[in-house]
Amino acid sequence: MTDARLHVMDHPLILHKISMLRTKETNTKDFRQLIYEIALLIGYEATRDLPVTEYIVATPIADAVGYRLPRQVCLVPILRAGLGMVDALLNLIPAAKVGHIGLYRDPDTLDPVEYYCKLPSDVPDRAVLVLDPMLATGGSAAAAITFLKMRGAKNIRMLNIIGAPEGVAKVTEAHPDVDVYLGALDEKLNDEGYIVPGLGDAGDRMFGTH
Ligand code: URA
Repeated sequence: MTDARLHVMDHPLILHKISMLRTKETNTKDFRQLIYEIALLIGYEATRDLPVTEYIVATPIADAVGYRLPRQVCLVPILRAGLGMVDALLNLIPAAKVGHIGLYRDPDTLDPVEYYCKLPSDVPDRAVLVLDPMLATGGSAAAAITFLKMRGAKNIRMLNIIGAPEGVAKVTEAHPDVDVYLGALDEKLNDEGYIVPGLGDAGDRMFGTH
């Protein structure tokens, strides 16, 4: 695991909100709201090093040095649970474009197969934030990043709310150039591929399909 690329959040607000998210009594509406709030806070950290350019703004009193984000951003939720993180990031970065990637696991080879991919044509020029609440085996995440790179994306970071060590290792080994931002790093995966202790199936809890 390339630790320099792994950023595990320790902000008290994130710790508090992830604990509420994990709780099995948390209902669908509150779960969605918490995903939104945590994604916003992780997004704040994950955009900390985006470059800015200076310009002069006129205040009612005098000129001041202003800053703007010249480099555009592209959000890429991995379907379907990644969708729950999009609104928060769009509220932080309203000018961001949004691509989508959908993957399924081939039942014979177990390899991730892309069934949907729609990206802005200028994705090579954008900082790409890949969104998925759960980084479990890392298979889908690593494949999604590979597909993004095949389409020219160069500056990629991954935002997850909870990750397992197995998933972090898979992504950072396959893509040592990608920064991974985790709300929490959990203990392990169980035999069914769920993160332990985790929070269960994020998509089902978010969309009420369990
Ligand atoms: N996906 C989920 O939603 N939860 C897990 O624990 C693992 C993968």
